[in-house]
This record gives sequence, structure tokens and C-alpha cells, in this order.
Amino acid sequence: MSSRRVVVAGGGAAGFFAAIACAQTAPDVAVTLLEKGPQFLSKVRISGGGRCNVTHACFEAREFAAHYPRGEQALIAPFRSFQASDTVAWFESRGVKLKTERDGRMFPTTDSSQTVIDCLLGEAKAAGVKLTLNRGIECATRRPDGHFELRLADGETLDCDSLLLATGGCRVPALGQLAVSLGHTLEPPVPSLFTFHLEAPWVRELAGVSVEAVEASVPGTGLRARGPLLLTHWGLSGPVILRLSAWGARELHGLDYRFTLRLNWLPHLGAEALAAELQSRRASQPARFVVNTPIPPLTARLWEQLVRAAGIPGDTRWAALSRAGRHQLVQQLQRSELQVTDKSLNKDEFVTCGGVCLSEVNFKTMESRLCPGLHFAGELLDIDGLTGGFNFQAAWTTGWLAGQALANASRPRG
Ligand SMILES: Cc1cc2nc3c(=O)[nH]c(=O)nc-3n(C[C@H](O)[C@H](O)[C@H](O)COP(=O)(O)OP(=O)(O)OC[C@H]3O[C@@H](n4cnc5c(N)ncnc54)[C@H](O)[C@@H]3O)c2cc1C
Repeated sequence: MSSRRVVVAGGGAAGFFAAIACAQTAPDVAVTLLEKGPQFLSKVRISGGGRCNVTHACFEAREFAAHYPRGEQALIAPFRSFQASDTVAWFESRGVKLKTERDGRMFPTTDSSQTVIDCLLGEAKAAGVKLTLNRGIECATRRPDGHFELRLADGETLDCDSLLLATGGCRVPALGQLAVSLGHTLEPPVPSLFTFHLEAPWVRELAGVSVEAVEASVPGTGLRARGPLLLTHWGLSGPVILRLSAWGARELHGLDYRFTLRLNWLPHLGAEALAAELQSRRASQPARFVVNTPIPPLTARLWEQLVRAAGIPGDTRWAALSRAGRHQLVQQLQRSELQVTDKSLNKDEFVTCGGVCLSEVNFKTMESRLCPGLHFAGELLDIDGLTGGFNFQAAWTTGWLAGQALANASRPRG
């Protein structure tokens, strides 16, 4: 009978998945999961607006990995071992059926994150994982014999053969301190997946309006994204903004979240096609007011604001729209410039860009390259994905790989 002891630090998605994988693969290993807080899986509970966007319906490893501004290369091989279809099968074989929404996000058919929590808790208990709450690890050292000595918040000490750190994103560097104390480097943390604050009153007046596809870019940087946009009381949100915030997490932090955002409201029309469209309106409806004749798919309210922002008076008819007016309108429709003054957290999903440096981790086993017996999983790593289930998939995949490796590990090395 093995007396190997594995400790998992962190009772989130990655920690649970790793603990279950380890205990189910090697029932003779004693797995203990220590959670610092008063609740397990608290982020799973609030995720996806309480519905838990478990993963994304994209089943090719390289294509899936392209959704990670940090971690893309490192994740390709892990996804070949455990990808979205494995997540779907894992949950379905345990009674949690998932459904796919039009945009590819996958949720439990119950539309309740509690279903996912019940499943993970049930599996962990059934596999014999020892689950403890309110027991955070304060300090970890690796002894010369290869064992880890852990000091807990309540002053108790614990000893284990292998340690998995799945303590979540380090919003502040102190949250990555266990990894640092064991010899690792942290890429500095900055937020990812945030929305943009604007002062422009006309945007705020349009709160609630959404546009199916715009192209957004930040002049002076290579940042550019296309997708649905949502106008809000504070500025701009929606997939295109979240995408830009994720790819530009470091650059936009460097700009202190003050920059010019350029929007093309009609990206499906080239400049010439748009000029021709305006010209044809002059010819076909000369007596109509410009402000009342939106170009689809722009809504009437948004069109009106864009026409006004182009400096075209409300009583201008198409026949009277000057060449300069047409130029201004084209500029406004395809090169609107808005000043972003700050960021807000996206309430549906946010993650930390930064964390344990990926070159220091072996992605076959999730084991540290610097400290044998130490493993990592989840958002603690310098991995973050776009919104849509990619962040949980990184937690499931790295947790599963770490759990398998912990189950199969040989005796501790000195
Ligand atoms: C509001 C919100 C909604 C989200 N919705 C989605 C979604 O729908 N889909 C998606 O893919 N992603 C979503 N995300 C992102 C996703 O929740 C995270 O990427 C994911 O939870 C990371 O899992 P993790 O296990 O690495 O970390 P966490 O879930 O953060 O878990 C880490 C755990 O470790 C504990 N811990 C920390 N330090 C210690 C210590 N020293 N000792 C012991 N325990 C410790 C923490 O208390 C915590 O419980 C959302 C995030 C937020 C904030």
C-alpha cells in the first residue's frame, strides 16, 4: 500500500480537477485539498452569470489554443491530451449534460453552476479526496529529502511528497508568493477581459444598443479586433472590446487605460463601397433627411448619433449633403475616434494576465522545472484566455494533466 501524500492548494476548478484525476487514477495515493476560503469552487458558482460557461465548442487543439493571448504555444500539446471534447465527455459521463449556444459557449443544460459544483464535490468525495475549508497554506518549503513542509494559516504544519499549487490568478503579486518562495518567477499581473470607459455623452445615451459586428483598433498599436459591440452607461463592452482588452492587456495597462479607440461601424463595406452607397442615396432619395435614413445594419438611434457626431445638422437632406459633409460622414462611420479614459471589470468574466512563468513548467506533467515534486494548474500560471469558456478549459486541462502526473509520479527525489 502506497503512503504517498499529495497536497492540492486551492479549491477552485483546477484544484478540484487535479485532485479528482489523481485520486481516481491512483486510489492508493492520499490526496488532500486545502482551500483558504470558506467555500469551495466559489468562482465556478458565480461564473457565466451563475450558469458556468464550462468550455467552448471548438474541438481542434491548435484552433482552441489560438484563443489564449498568453499561453497559446504552451497549451497546444496539453489540448491534444485533454481538450473541450474530453471536458464534455468527462461531465456527461458523470451526469452533467452540456449544451452549446449559438456563439459556441457551452453550459450545463440546467443553466446552473450548482450542477457543476455538485458534480465536482461528489466526484472528489467519492474518490476519497480529503477536502478542507479555511485552511490556506501560508508557507511552503522543499526539504533536502524532497518532501514539502507546509505551514498552514492556523499554525499547523503538514508534510507531503508532492504539492500542486492551484491557487488562482495573482491579481496582486503577493498571491503568487508560494510559487516565488519555491524558486519561481511571476510575470507581473495585470487585468484582462475588461470594458472601456468613455466620456462621450452620445455613447452613454445609447446604453443598451448593440451592433452585430464592428472593427475596433487602437492607433499606434497593432491591436485590432472584430465582433459584436455593446454600448453601456459607462462606455463600451461586448465581445469585440473584451477581445481587444485581452490581447492588449499589457499594452493598455502601459497606457494607463487612456488611449484613442478607432471604430469602423460598417466593416463589411470598403471605403469605396460606402462612398458609392452614400452617392446612391443622394440620387435615389434626395429629399429625405440624412438623419432618418440609416445604412443597415445600424439602428436608427445609433445612425442619428453618428450623423450628428459627423457635424451634419438634423435638417440636412441627401441632395444638400456637401462633399465635405459626405467625407465627414464616411470618417465617422469607418474611423470614429473615441477617447477611452479608464477601464471597468467585466461582471461576467475577468481573469489575470500574468502569473507563473511558463518556461519554468513542463507542460507534459505540469511539474516545475525548478523544484521537483511541485506542480501547477489553472490561472496561477501566466495563461489567460478570451471570454467564452476558454479560461475554465485551461483549468480543466492543466488540472487533469497535473492530476495524472501526480498519480503516476515515482517516489520523491532527494
Ligand atoms: C465573475 C467571473 C466569472 C467567470 N466566468 C467564467 C466562465 O463562465 N467561463 C470561464 O471559462 N471562465 C470564467 N471565469 C474565469 C474562471 O473563473 C477562472 O479562470 C477559473 O476559476 C480559474 O480557476 P483556478 O482553479 O485556477 O482558480 P480559482 O477558481 O480562483 O481557485 C483558486 C482557489 O485557491 C484558493 N487559494 C488561494 N490561495 C490559497 C492558499 N495559499 N492556500 C489554499 N488555497 C488558496 C482560493 O481561495 C480559490 O478558491 C470567470 C471569472 C470571474 C471572476
